[in-house]
Amino acid sequence: MTELMRAARLHAVGEKMLIEQVERPTATGTDVVVAVKGCGMVPNLANVLANWRTWYPRMPLPPLPAIFGLDPVGVVHEVGDQVVSVKPGDRVYVNPGRSCGACHPCGSNAPQKCAYWTLGGYFGYNPGSLDMFARYPYGGFCEYMLAPQSALVKLPDSLEFRHATRLGYLGTSYAAVKKLGPLADRTLIVNGATGTLGVGVTLVALALGVSRVLAVARGVPLLERLKELAPGRIETFSNREGGTEEWVKSRTGDRGADFMIDTLGAVASLDALGDAMRGVARGGRIVNIGGTAGELGINVKWWMDEQMELVGSVWFTAAEGMELAGMVGSGVIDLSVLEPRSWPLDDINEAISGVSSGAGGFTSYLVEL
Ligand SMILES: [Zn+2]
Repeated sequence: MTELMRAARLHAVGEKMLIEQVERPTATGTDVVVAVKGCGMVPNLANVLANWRTWYPRMPLPPLPAIFGLDPVGVVHEVGDQVVSVKPGDRVYVNPGRSCGACHPCGSNAPQKCAYWTLGGYFGYNPGSLDMFARYPYGGFCEYMLAPQSALVKLPDSLEFRHATRLGYLGTSYAAVKKLGPLADRTLIVNGATGTLGVGVTLVALALGVSRVLAVARGVPLLERLKELAPGRIETFSNREGGTEEWVKSRTGDRGADFMIDTLGAVASLDALGDAMRGVARGGRIVNIGGTAGELGINVKWWMDEQMELVGSVWFTAAEGMELAGMVGSGVIDLSVLEPRSWPLDDINEAISGVSSGAGGFTSYLVEL
């Protein structure tokens, strides 16, 4: 007999999600069913639902009606007969990154380069993403979701579910910081430092030993709050008050910073990104994990002459999620500075529109089940 579960489904762009009874998945092979206890509410979800097909027509959404939900956490409920890595009762984060699992990039632990690369419960990057949505149709806004065992990150006991729903943004931040290389005696510009990704980058970079964070954002109150994370290592600047390049040079003996990570959101100004890039010193590395879109004019002579490295970074691997969970478990990263704000599944529509009401990147939004 088919068992049912509660799920929030979107039937049409522009409409509200409906709480409905849908078929509960069962686990076969190397797949796992997770009883969802919470799912992160991405600040960008309202943009995705309202604008994605217009902004990025080549990036498919899951076929409607769809169960969204990018950052699920929960308890393993049922495992397929070939699952060896987890067992029922394990507490897990479900990395929503999906890929074919069989190509050269997948075999090299670089699933983001796979032709099927997809963020389950959110959107895809390729036509092949539709195959991934067909195999794993459920995001985290439902009671039970299907996931491959390779996507699961076991959670340490000390990592509460309501903080673990932040692992997506923290993992994205972690993967970007890793791409910088060693951080000892290095200076990092975090552009958009008080947003969800910016706070994550700051927490991770401090934990991994960066000497100085030059934190750039708009609002002063949140910048002051960010500085409290490490007053001796964080300097802050509101780019409402002037140019980022000029400020960074003034703080680095006119040399510039070693690194910059851009975390600005979908509707941010490209001028702010370009300004922060010019604050990076010769031979520096710039990693972009923000959602800003558009054509950015780059002086290619500067790029070559100064040996600048420009790196794009999307999401993170399950292995990186495990490393991050380990750092939280051992206390290297303290998530108690974050404030979870949650809604029950029944209030999913209030949650989607409520994500701008908190303290920037210090607030973690989630739906609890
Ligand atoms: Zn692949």
